[in-house]
Amino acid sequence: MALMPKSLRNPAQAAIALGSNLGNRRRHLDAAVAALARAAGVEVIETSTFIETPPFGPRGQRDYFNAACLVRTTRSPHSLLRLLRRIECRRGRDRINGHRWGPRTLDLDLLLYDAVVIDTSDLTVPHQRLHSRRFVLEPLAEIAPNLAVPTFNRTVRELLAELDACEAGA
Ligand code: ATP
Ligand code: CA
Ligand code: CA
Repeated sequence: MALMPKSLRNPAQAAIALGSNLGNRRRHLDAAVAALARAAGVEVIETSTFIETPPFGPRGQRDYFNAACLVRTTRSPHSLLRLLRRIECRRGRDRINGHRWGPRTLDLDLLLYDAVVIDTSDLTVPHQRLHSRRFVLEPLAEIAPNLAVPTFNRTVRELLAELDACEAGA
């Protein structure tokens, strides 16, 4: 393994969800991964393939491109969240006119940060809806099936299997 710069010693491992359903969706996701890789204190370990998924929320939207990314980072969870918001903003994410769950050029969510559990007004980790979203669990299971999800006491693969079972029985 290549020697890591000093700033990346003792890093945490974090998982990030990426989504886009406005503009050039593939380019927005590619740009987000490139921006993460360039950011100080962040090393991209692996990125999933991009999957096309039906939109969540208001009707009449285009399908999403979704992906997941695994990073090593020396940033704190809140610093990572600020970085994600800056990257979204640079790709033209409109938070003022954009409706909740409405069309967006780029959405980056912090899914997991080591075994850390956070519940503050602006940040919840693990991500609150991680366990119920196939478009999040599928790409994440592709790159990190054995990652532990605190509070659920399940791995990513187990959460996906439970979602499968739940949907099959529905
Ligand atoms: P969802 O949270 O259901 O995926 P969304 O991604 O569309 O919805 P946003 O409008 O992007 O929601 O974000 C709403 C707020 O969620 C943000 O202001 C942010 O502070 C907060 N938030 C809480 N936990 C997280 C997290 N783990 N990752 C990203 N944002 C989070
Ligand atoms: Ca989201
Ligand atoms: Ca978000």
